Amino acid sequence: MFKHSAFNLRRFDEMYEDCVACGQYYEPEVGFYWGAMYISYGFSTIIVFFTGVALYYLANDPQVRVYVTVVATIVLALTPLLFRYARVVMLYFFGGIRYDPTLVPRLPS
Ligand SMILES: [Zn+2]
Repeated sequence: MFKHSAFNLRRFDEMYEDCVACGQYYEPEVGFYWGAMYISYGFSTIIVFFTGVALYYLANDPQVRVYVTVVATIVLALTPLLFRYARVVMLYFFGGIRYDPTLVPRLPS
């Protein structure tokens, strides 16, 4: 789906217009991926929750600034992955697209 590696911090968000293997168009409607923000928000909330619980028990309930710093660092570091998985989940559940194993893949050159 994406043109560059998730570690390419300048261009991790660039997508192909259609699938390089089967030609499936990736934007079913205009502004389709706005909904992915809510999915990304959900992922972030889960990370904040589990990081908070881990800090509470493993770091013996540190000061608030420790919670804020650790959570912000982890979420920022995972931003490319959160962005991408939110879009993939959005496309899978709301894009009306299903995998069709009968399609012969057209390998990218
Ligand atoms: Zn495809």
